[in-house]
Amino acid sequence: MKKITILGATGSIGRSTIDVIRRNPDLYSLYAATGNKNYSVMASIIREFSPSVVVMTDKTACDRLKEMVQAEHRDTEVLFGAENLNAVAASEEYDGLMSAIVGAAGLRPTLAAITQGKTVYLANKESLVMSGHIFIDAARRFKSAIIPVDSEHNAIFQCLPEKEQQRIGRCELKEAGIQNIILTGSGGPFRDRDSSTLDTVTPAEAVSHPNWSMGKKISVDSATMMNKGLEFIEAKWLFNAAPEDIKVVVHPESVIHSMVQYTDGSVLAQLGRHDMRTPIARLGSLTFREPDFVKYPCLKLAIDACATSQAMTTAVNAANEVAVNAFLDGKIKFTDIYRVCAKVASQFACVNAPDLESILEVDTQARARAYSELAVL
Ligand code: NAD
Ligand code: MG
Repeated sequence: MKKITILGATGSIGRSTIDVIRRNPDLYSLYAATGNKNYSVMASIIREFSPSVVVMTDKTACDRLKEMVQAEHRDTEVLFGAENLNAVAASEEYDGLMSAIVGAAGLRPTLAAITQGKTVYLANKESLVMSGHIFIDAARRFKSAIIPVDSEHNAIFQCLPEKEQQRIGRCELKEAGIQNIILTGSGGPFRDRDSSTLDTVTPAEAVSHPNWSMGKKISVDSATMMNKGLEFIEAKWLFNAAPEDIKVVVHPESVIHSMVQYTDGSVLAQLGRHDMRTPIARLGSLTFREPDFVKYPCLKLAIDACATSQAMTTAVNAANEVAVNAFLDGKIKFTDIYRVCAKVASQFACVNAPDLESILEVDTQARARAYSELAVL
């Protein structure tokens, strides 16, 4: 029986993880769950699973949960704030951690779990984008296993030889006879829309992904293909891949989750149904396209940042979080997301950010500059 902690338990990935625990009560139990504002989902998690600890980063939601636990005489301890996220992630009381907070807020608690040598199921790609080398180094030193949850990276993981699966972050792709890693992406809701009309896209259109149901931020990232750019950076760190060995292809059917091309010419792919309504019979019509960088400039920006510096990938990620929130709030146009990211990212290309403190400083500064860019749009 494995005790699981879920960071971001109230979100899309978090609720899917809860469902896996629900269906496998003899394999898993819930040790701790964390959330931000969503009182009602967390209340139902407490009632169903009685976790030992719950952490909320929103004070109002936390206070309401404390009242609920007291009124119903439940045993769950309810804590508030980011410091307690780190403390719970660093606890010795559990075995595996699902990292499913959205954005940079996931970095510190995920790193806390890695430095405790936990098995970390990693959905929070932003933390790896910001501090890949630190994560991978810590995982090696503290013997923490990182299991990729992002579907593309999980697919690649499944297509690797066992030896490489066991050294995620330190793979030797050439030694394993691997030529390329091929990341597939659906192209999002606008793949067939004329690029010249993208400035009129509404938040509702951007979050309605054709193939997947996900949180709002990653849905917008899928529409700009910034998501695939972040995944490119994620792949570089997880599989110790050179940027020139990672390819991106648009695959509208989303049946192939990603592929590994070996030097002998063979290609291993992992296929799956993303949704029960899509029959596997669609296999008869798998299509692939080169990504269009005019339509998806965010993808190009992230790939360029990956080949430039860790500070630049951190800045792209930070600016993107600010810009996507502004877009979702109706404050900027869809096409402004790229403008803000590109302006901010270029300012950090030559910055050296070797440790966690300097990365967090780049993150703070890049957010501040992104807000200034929003003000002059
Ligand atoms: P979501 O918005 O549905 O959920 C986010 C979770 O993070 C919620 O539990 C929320 O309470 C919590 N949270 C938000 N802000 C927080 C903060 N400041 N501090 C602490 N907690 C906070 O997002 P999601 O779609 O589940 O995505 C989660 C992560 O998984 C993202 O990094 C995303 O890129 C990645 N991911 C998601 C999917 C998917 O299918 N949804 C697929 C691959 C990767
Ligand atoms: Mg993905």
